[in-house]
Amino acid sequence: AKERYASIRDKEAVTVDGKRIHMMMNAGLMADLPSLGTSGAEGVGLFRTELQFLIRNQMPKRAELVESYERVLTAAGEKRVVFRTLDIGSDKVLPYMKPTDEPNPALGWRAIRVGLDKPGVMRMQLQALMRAAKGRPLTIMFPFVAQFEEYRQARREVDKTLERERKLGHVLPESIEVGAMLETPSLGFAPLKFFEEVDFVSIGGNDLKQFFFAADRENERVRKRYDTLNASFLSFIERVVERCDMCDTPLSFCGEDAGRPIEAVCLAAMGIRYLSMRPASIGPVKSLMMRVDLGELRKVISDARHRGEQSVRPSVIRYLREL
Ligand code: PEP
Ligand code: MG
Repeated sequence: AKERYASIRDKEAVTVDGKRIHMMMNAGLMADLPSLGTSGAEGVGLFRTELQFLIRNQMPKRAELVESYERVLTAAGEKRVVFRTLDIGSDKVLPYMKPTDEPNPALGWRAIRVGLDKPGVMRMQLQALMRAAKGRPLTIMFPFVAQFEEYRQARREVDKTLERERKLGHVLPESIEVGAMLETPSLGFAPLKFFEEVDFVSIGGNDLKQFFFAADRENERVRKRYDTLNASFLSFIERVVERCDMCDTPLSFCGEDAGRPIEAVCLAAMGIRYLSMRPASIGPVKSLMMRVDLGELRKVISDARHRGEQSVRPSVIRYLREL
């Protein structure tokens, strides 16, 4: 199997019906970057910046961040890197930050909520990203955006930081794209204007599933009850795809499910064109992707939904076995 993956490593993932699916990888440390070459990833669809904060016992200095982001961008060369701003709180607690005592941390003060309420660290991070990118394109993504206004506020922070950097005489990035992670159902129901204004959307499937089904992502007992190929969940994905398509807004999926071949082809059948996954999953996902007809698969999924099946998985597996 390994050899089969090696033989398709440098091929584009094009389905039987000619749809081009972009294979991106998730990363979080410099050590992950060599996988860009070995996995055949087209870029880093999710760079989890909090890992660099989590492995230290004190807040990193801005200069240190600039240096590490610079190394990431240089290692990636022409390939795009989507930097997610600090996603802390809930399951990711910084050892040097006073723990907040919250009864429900997953629903608590985390990610962009911290960034907007106490913007000091976020501003430092934005500055570091801009300085690291100098003269090159920069892609920033905000985690856990639950409503339009949070995205707008975060984007204003980006604009203000850019203006400050300009005044300080720093070389600015060549361009800046600012995206939002869709990890709560609420954002799927945001005004269409949100989908127009945002530069791209990335579905964080791990958190989205947790909140969609109200099932803790770290609690096996309840998590296992709900299938990603659940018909209701796919209806929601369909809605997000439609809204993004209406506004020509690129949409990606970067939760663990993007790296599971069956889930990945179903997400592609629903209309998602960018999948970001751990590097080792790219081969298996691409291999199946190149053997499916997304139009046919979409029909299999629709039929199962119309029959009222709770999960489309059995129908999808039956179809895939015939390939
Ligand atoms: C997600 O929630 O799906 C995601 C990609 O982010 P994380 O797993 O880091 O919360
Ligand atoms: Mg998440």
